[in-house]
Amino acid sequence: MIQNTGITNNILELIGNTPLIKLNKITKDSPGNFYVKYEGFNPGHSMKDRIAIHIIEEAEKKGLLKEGSTIIETTSGNTGFSLALVSIIKGYKCILAVNSKASAGKINMLKAMGAKVYVCPANVKADDPRSYYQVAKKLHEETANSIYINQYFNELNIEAHYKTTGPEIWQQTNGEITHLVAASGTGGTISGVARYLKEQNKNIKVLGVDAFGSILKKFHETGEFDQNEIYPYRIEGLGKNLIPTATDFDVIDIFEKVTDEAAAHRARELAITEGLFTGYTSGAVVQAAIQYAEKGMFDKNSKVVLILPDHGSRYMEKIYSDEWMKDQGFFDSQKQAHEVVEYIK
Ligand code: PMP
Repeated sequence: MIQNTGITNNILELIGNTPLIKLNKITKDSPGNFYVKYEGFNPGHSMKDRIAIHIIEEAEKKGLLKEGSTIIETTSGNTGFSLALVSIIKGYKCILAVNSKASAGKINMLKAMGAKVYVCPANVKADDPRSYYQVAKKLHEETANSIYINQYFNELNIEAHYKTTGPEIWQQTNGEITHLVAASGTGGTISGVARYLKEQNKNIKVLGVDAFGSILKKFHETGEFDQNEIYPYRIEGLGKNLIPTATDFDVIDIFEKVTDEAAAHRARELAITEGLFTGYTSGAVVQAAIQYAEKGMFDKNSKVVLILPDHGSRYMEKIYSDEWMKDQGFFDSQKQAHEVVEYIK
């Protein structure tokens, strides 16, 4: 065996310790300093690597997993990929119930990582037997030696970010962070990071990002679960049609909603201005930060950290496809596709 050469023993050792990168152009009209925690640098290309390894290793400590056990989960894609990755290295089977909003590319990636995938309709209620929640629950009941990750209702989802993402951001900013801007789906990322940061400095403001069509903002403001807030939208992984217990609403100060269209254009802009090729929710987070700035949230001394959840390669048939953008009507306003491809015949 080679020693002390800087060799990584397996891919899982590379999870976390993602870079914090200054934004230089896209936020130039907003007061303050903006930094992105680019979670696409994880080996599974999203922040979900952090919860996958943490939840699986906690189950191992409790003796719930042995060689050949099965990991089951509901996922919009990223958690599934991360669970499949961890399962490969640790010798587990991985079964995933996926929402039909997930792109074909994401589903192929899960298959490439050896997972068994069930695709479930997106626009049914959470208690419908066809929903990905109910399908996963049933598979867990029917599969011996299986664990159900249950990321929406698993406190370890928050803990993973409390133990890793939060301390990393605190150290990388030298404790000078003033605002956190983060998307909320299960709520694990924003809640874990916010809990850690507020323990270090209670004045840090935590600004959530929600989607139009999701319940989170209204629930946070009023405590009311208003069915009228719920309607289909296109951003994958952001917002919810239920209240996850993996969201700690007490550590989130405020939510801002973004549209599908603005978030998609902002992700494309992030690529061509900063060279950051990120996912749809990253566009949503940057869009929300700019909306917060327009509302006077920041001043010139603000040090704002934005968490960018995943890498852009997962969205080639969606926000990075001009055809898809046209089909959504996203080029109908002033913004046009940048037609830079020329076909030589
Ligand atoms: N962005 C993407 C692309 C995601 O897959 C998720 C997870 N649903 C989120 C943001 C939200 O993160 P969290 O579940 O930790 O709230």
